[in-house]
Amino acid sequence: MDEVDLDELVSSLTPREENRTIKTYQNTVAVACPACEEPFDDLVVCKENPTSLNLSQQLDFCVGTEDGQALIFTHKK
Ligand SMILES: [Zn+2]
Repeated sequence: MDEVDLDELVSSLTPREENRTIKTYQNTVAVACPACEEPFDDLVVCKENPTSLNLSQQLDFCVGTEDGQALIFTHKK
């Protein structure tokens, strides 16, 4: 599998929220998830290690890393 290219990936995505620990992007153009190749809903970039996520809904997600940052690709059920 190819390495995740975060810059290239986020250039297609819409930035949503950023706080001290995470940054989120919405996938409005159905970019394929690098892990499972299904389009994902949101990308969460974890800026702190470790980081807790408070998920408001049940989600499937795929995980990758880039430069030591965890990347979480969410898939709504
Ligand atoms: Zn996926």
